Amino acid sequence: MNNQVPEEEMEETRVTSCSNCGAKVEFEGESHAEECPFCASPIVIDTGTTKQIKPKGVLPFIKTEDKAREAMTEWLGKLWFAPNNLKEYARKGRKMQGMYVPYWTYDAQSESDYRGQRGDAYYVTERYTTTEDGKTVTKTRQVRKIRWSRRSGHISKFFDDILVLASKSLPKRFTDQLAPWDLSALVDYSPNYLAGYQAEAYSIELREGFDEAENVMEREIRNLVRRDIGGDEQRIDRLSTTLSAITYKHVLLPVWLAAYKYEGKTYRFVVNGQSGKVKGERPWSKAKIAIAVVSALVVIAIGVTVYQYTK
Ligand SMILES: [Zn+2]
Repeated sequence: MNNQVPEEEMEETRVTSCSNCGAKVEFEGESHAEECPFCASPIVIDTGTTKQIKPKGVLPFIKTEDKAREAMTEWLGKLWFAPNNLKEYARKGRKMQGMYVPYWTYDAQSESDYRGQRGDAYYVTERYTTTEDGKTVTKTRQVRKIRWSRRSGHISKFFDDILVLASKSLPKRFTDQLAPWDLSALVDYSPNYLAGYQAEAYSIELREGFDEAENVMEREIRNLVRRDIGGDEQRIDRLSTTLSAITYKHVLLPVWLAAYKYEGKTYRFVVNGQSGKVKGERPWSKAKIAIAVVSALVVIAIGVTVYQYTK
């Protein structure tokens, strides 16, 4: 895909950058945050502007802040070995931040030619000798073999809305777990949707995001080729793919976010603002774990003692 983006699809935005985690957050109007919504570090106000591709679509928030906080409190309440003051933190009902997280979606038509081999399993009966009760005996067993035959073919596949995270502020393993998103609910972007929320500027460029989309397509195409080859095992010797009709969209997806520092380390809690799906990081209370380990050892020790007495 080419890197030329028409001027009318670009916009200048004012962003504030966090010097700790690198998040670039757009603030609505005059509002300023004192701490970074992603890592809870004091934020450095930066009045600079950055030129970015305008969002094309936005997925509006469905879950309210109350619902998101409820989910967080419930999640924290269920944690074993969480430090007590963490639960206190949850009870205080600290504010969660509604954040529009930047993503790219890519569409493409793929045409692939492949050459490979199809493996069909068959079994042969083999004789072998072994020793039983000091005697040598002859037995038979079934052995699996593969018969390979050449295959070639063509796969045609249209990829619709391959979603790629365009931000580095949240760990990918985190945001991946917020999926699935129902992208059929995307609406045309208008700044009105951002009122009351924050939006993050993308930090993964269009081209870089496309590399990841290509990996997703490649994996899917290889699966289709294997299915096309059929049989019990498959080998792909050559695969060449041509992509055409590549289009992209910059979209904003809704996430409720709470970041907090505990003993100098940042922990984050996120809720999918559309589905309500929850994902969090958590601290462990060393004291509680130590008590549990000691209690377990005591129980084992008592058990061993009782066992010895009753013997
Ligand atoms: Zn930060």
